Formats: sequence, structure tokens, C-alpha cells
Amino acid sequence: MSRTTGIVQDVKYMEHGAGFDHPESPERLRAIYKMLELPPMAGKFTNIPPRPATIDELALIHRSSYIDSVAATAGRPYTPLDPDTATTAESFTAARLAAGGLLNAIDSVVAGDVDNAFALVRPPGHHAEANAAMGFCLFNNVAIGAMHAVNKHAMERVLIVDWDLHHGNGTQHSFYEDNRVLYFSTHQYPYYPGTGALEENGRGAGLGYTINVPLRPGAGDARYVNFFRKILLPVALKFKPELILVSAGFDIYEHDPLGGMKVTPEGFACLTRVLLNIADACCQGRLVMTLEGGYHIQGQTEGVKRVLQEMLDETRTEAENLFSPAGDNRQEDLFIGKIKEQIRPYWPM
Ligand SMILES: [Zn+2]
Repeated sequence: MSRTTGIVQDVKYMEHGAGFDHPESPERLRAIYKMLELPPMAGKFTNIPPRPATIDELALIHRSSYIDSVAATAGRPYTPLDPDTATTAESFTAARLAAGGLLNAIDSVVAGDVDNAFALVRPPGHHAEANAAMGFCLFNNVAIGAMHAVNKHAMERVLIVDWDLHHGNGTQHSFYEDNRVLYFSTHQYPYYPGTGALEENGRGAGLGYTINVPLRPGAGDARYVNFFRKILLPVALKFKPELILVSAGFDIYEHDPLGGMKVTPEGFACLTRVLLNIADACCQGRLVMTLEGGYHIQGQTEGVKRVLQEMLDETRTEAENLFSPAGDNRQEDLFIGKIKEQIRPYWPM
């Protein structure tokens, strides 16, 4: 049995220029799209054409005053929005198309046109707040996607998994008091953007529906897979998501210029396998990835390739195949115990 995988790609995503010599460059997608045209990847995917998200869809997460301010940058050659984030003339169009591309990917998976999908879009989204651009992000694609699943598809439980190097502050804040969307993040900590402490678990009705795994630099494949298997998996099987969305950041790659993690392409494949197993157990395999960060062009491209091969079921990567450095596992067991202790009031295990 193999699976059908949809991909969202569009040359307009490369027309958003983040600024001269900016790490979040159009080159990121150019390399991925080229990889998709060549063997062994060519011809294996169902193309899902994107559409611009409507203003109402952006407003599922963002304030209208903020949407207006991004819209006002259209056609202007350069507008700085935060110390790391700027727009060029086509950025508003590209950002609407990024969010809308993910929405179409979700709709295709829910309709059963494809089994799973990967929105290969930019600008990324998980730092964008309701009223602010931040950290290379304009609109919060994954948060808009989750609200779309709730609104349009009447879903009551959506799981967002965020393996980007950085904590997805905007996503966390969007659902901090909401029990319909469970947000699980692994991230380097303390680090940009500063949020994502172990103790941040949600508020009010959302208490327990935010789970943070803050990590010191140096975590590699085996450690990441361990966190997914020992923390995420049991929680997710209890939560029973109707859809899994992934903020897939490739800046945890071992040679990423912005990060300190040690994940290899095989590690990305194995993390994908854990998520496919959860999706198979809970929601007929419905898994939709969206591209976040990743600044080592070749490493990111290789990572995306291995994720897609896993999504197709061409490979079935198990943790046992991963490189696992000899070392002090006791420290790690203690940390996993500490995380379990933290979330035990909400997720007994
Ligand atoms: Zn990142």
C-alpha cells in the first residue's frame, strides 16, 4: 500500500523578498521545487493549486487593523515591519497565497482527494501574532489552517505539531485558551522568540492544550524521536485529533546556520513516521505539513525530500535505524519524566 500525497507549490511564493541577504530567501523554495522536478521525486505527487486566503479567513486569527497594514505594503518596494521582517511589493499577495495554499491542502485531504499533503510555501507563519508580523512571518498559516478546519469542517479536535527550531509564539497565543486545538512544540530554549517554557500549558478552557518541550542545543535524531514517542504519542492518542497539522521547520537540521540542533534527513523521516502512525490511529491518516523555517538550503531540501518519501510510504523509517550517540541517557530520562510530571494533571500517563 502506498499513499497519495499532495503538494502546494507556486512561483509567486518566490516573489516575496524578505530583504537583501536575508536567510529566509526565495532560494529556499527554488531548491525544493527543483528537487521535485528531478528523479526520484518527479511525477509522484498530486499538485494542489493554491488560492489567496480571503480577508475573512485571515481574520480567523488576525486583527483587521493588522491585515490592513500588511495590505498597505502591496506595491511598495520595501517596508520594514519588525527588526527581522520586511515586505516587498509582492509580499502581501504571496502571504495570502501561502495561507490559502495550506487551506486548499487541508480541503484536499479532508475531501479524500489525497491522503496527506505538504504546503511548500513562504513566507512562513508560526511567529505571526494576531496584530503583528514577527520573525520572518506575516500571516500565521498553520493557525489560520487550524481555525479553518474548526470552522469550515466542523472539527472539534485539531493537533498542531511544531518541530521548527524556534517556538511558535503566534500559534501558541492563538489557541492558548482554546481546547479545540492542541499545540505541541519542541524548540531550542532559551532562544528566539523567548516563549515556550515548560510551564506554559494554556489558560482557562485551554489549560493542558499547550505542551512545550524546551530543549538545550545539541538534540539529534534519537532524542527528537524519543520526545515524539514518549510524550506526543500518548497525549495524541488520548486527544484523538481529527486532523494533524505540522509546522515543519528544517532549521533543526544539523548544519543550519541559525540553529544548534543535530537532526539529519533520516531523523525528519522518522519524526514523520511517528506522526503518520498517530494520524492512522486517529484520523484516517490525515496529515498536512506546512513549511516554516530552514536556512541550510541543501539540508532543508534533503529533509523535505525524506519527509515526502515517508508520506508516500516509499520508506518506513524506524527509530532503530537512527544514529544514536552513546552517552548519558539518564539525563534524558529525567527530563522526559519532568515533562510528564508537568502535564500529568491534564494527560495522565
Ligand atoms: Zn525557525
